Amino acid sequence: MSAYNVASLLKAPTGTMRVVEISETEPRFGPELPVRSPVQGQARFTRTEDGILVQGQVAATVEEVECSRCLTTFPLQVVTQFEEEFIPCVDVVTGSPLPPPEDETLRIDDRHVLDLTETFRQYLLIAVPLKAVCRPACKGLCPTCGVELNNGVCECDQEPTARPFAALATLLMPDRAQSIRQR
Ligand SMILES: [Zn+2]
Ligand SMILES: [Zn+2]
Repeated sequence: MSAYNVASLLKAPTGTMRVVEISETEPRFGPELPVRSPVQGQARFTRTEDGILVQGQVAATVEEVECSRCLTTFPLQVVTQFEEEFIPCVDVVTGSPLPPPEDETLRIDDRHVLDLTETFRQYLLIAVPLKAVCRPACKGLCPTCGVELNNGVCECDQEPTARPFAALATLLMPDRAQSIRQR
């Protein structure tokens, strides 16, 4: 998975930076986040006083995202920026244990391995929009018969959508509505 040995960076002075190419060819984020093609990106690892600050960007294709208009599923390309500070659980020089970080997922293990898998999972999940659309011009479903309007026009009368406004006109301008009705 997306694990990096950061022993040498932990030994370096505060402020030391390292650029890391991200290429996770077999992503496994669980059923919540179906990603089957490589996750690509770049990150900058910076030695801080307490640990290592990781800042970067990753891109992934999330499969089976549901279109909020037509309800079909489609693969969605997602790009997200991320930033987290990882904390070592042992002192890199002495090997003595250090107090654990508040967030277990931001822990550098006792072999100085920093794992970005959980960070990617969380940021990519957030990057999938709640109201995703399969394409900007998606026409969605007919509210009356449920036919997918991308495949053509349905048999429904388009009148119902106009009626609320007609009712409003009756309320606002009773005289005019009357005259329309009489025509
Ligand atoms: Zn759609
Ligand atoms: Zn219809």
